[in-house]
Amino acid sequence: MRRRHFLVLFVLLFTWLPEEAYSTEEGTFYTYFELQSLRIDFVLSGNDTSRAASLLHLRKEPLWSAPLDHLVDPFKYGDYFVFVTDPVSCDTLYSRGFNTLFEEWRTTPEAAHRTQAFLNSVLVPFPRRLITVTLSARSRIDMCFYPLLSFSVDPEDSHIDCGTHVSYPVTELVDNGSIHRHVDLLFLAEGYSAAEHDKFLADAQRFTDVLYDTPPFTVCKDRFNVRALFIPSCQSGTDIPHEGVYVHTPLHTSFHTFSIDRYLTTVDIPAVCDARWDVPCDALVLLVNTPVYGGAGIYNFYATVAADNDRSPHIFIHELGHSFAGLADEYFTSEVAYNNFYPLDCEPWEPNITTLVRFVDKWNDLLLPGTPVPTPLMAPYDVLPGVFEGAGYSSKGIYRPMDHCMMRDYAPFCPACSRAILEMIDFFAPR
Ligand SMILES: [Zn+2]
Repeated sequence: MRRRHFLVLFVLLFTWLPEEAYSTEEGTFYTYFELQSLRIDFVLSGNDTSRAASLLHLRKEPLWSAPLDHLVDPFKYGDYFVFVTDPVSCDTLYSRGFNTLFEEWRTTPEAAHRTQAFLNSVLVPFPRRLITVTLSARSRIDMCFYPLLSFSVDPEDSHIDCGTHVSYPVTELVDNGSIHRHVDLLFLAEGYSAAEHDKFLADAQRFTDVLYDTPPFTVCKDRFNVRALFIPSCQSGTDIPHEGVYVHTPLHTSFHTFSIDRYLTTVDIPAVCDARWDVPCDALVLLVNTPVYGGAGIYNFYATVAADNDRSPHIFIHELGHSFAGLADEYFTSEVAYNNFYPLDCEPWEPNITTLVRFVDKWNDLLLPGTPVPTPLMAPYDVLPGVFEGAGYSSKGIYRPMDHCMMRDYAPFCPACSRAILEMIDFFAPR
């Protein structure tokens, strides 16, 4: 009798759900996935001419914070892609592009005479039934994706690690609501001692204020949730190898990546993922407790920023442009570690640079009628959207949308970059 009452109540509740509360794509989500994550740890190895992927570890994690109605990646940014498919119908159930430190390393001189491995990790929604996961890499010849590794995942497999990690204290700096309908920005402490907890929270709040004071984020304040996750460090600071400074920190960040002093990264991806395992996160920023100038931003992977440099506010926004919106560097004169980072006979995937191979796919619609392509750096064009030569670490053959931009020299974001940021906010925070 009690069971029949429960059934009647369930049917009534289901009937009363408003139509818009359950979109078709959300229905797809609940058919195939749970509100939890499958963390896929894998190894990328190779050199400048070859690469391979190997599966390392699968984990079930307690949250899925990305939107439920945007399952297939519309941007096609990144040098790598993860695809989740139905093994029977072969339909793509989920996909997402990302970048890796490994792929950057492949363009350094070192990769010509050394083979090396890098740890990586991606999250996909946890499946309710058997799925196929494929990791694909973009070819630098035709810019298409080709499979590197494909494997089945049975959600009942007892080898999937369902264990817990240490839960570190989380402070909500901004709470605007549902994790599925907001950009969940997470500041992760790196190199802050236990006694520096309050400094970390003050730093995270300071960078939140910087974000909210920077267009185009100024018009999207209500579309973010911001959290600060504190992990106490044995020592303060970070490694500065070229000065002989090595400190014991939880995420093992270091300057001088690829022999570039300012390039501040970590290769310890499992440490980063273990730290944030139970916290919603669509955009990750490692806040590094150092006054030394530096940072990094890798698309859909992480950003790092030195907390206490005079230029830290600009570093933070610039690196978030890389890691959150897939923006390329528009500068072309600073020292970098890369050789021929962008092949000039292919259109790069980033939305704010072009080789003119397929410019029609980029910011052509933002140009005023009559703007020459390429655009001369002279009045009246020099303060308007155009196609200016010099970008992506090359003074020739690669073009940027305005003379100055946050992705070149910390000027305000150009219209092409602003649009790309707003499109990414729309993806994570659908209205
Ligand atoms: Zn720009």
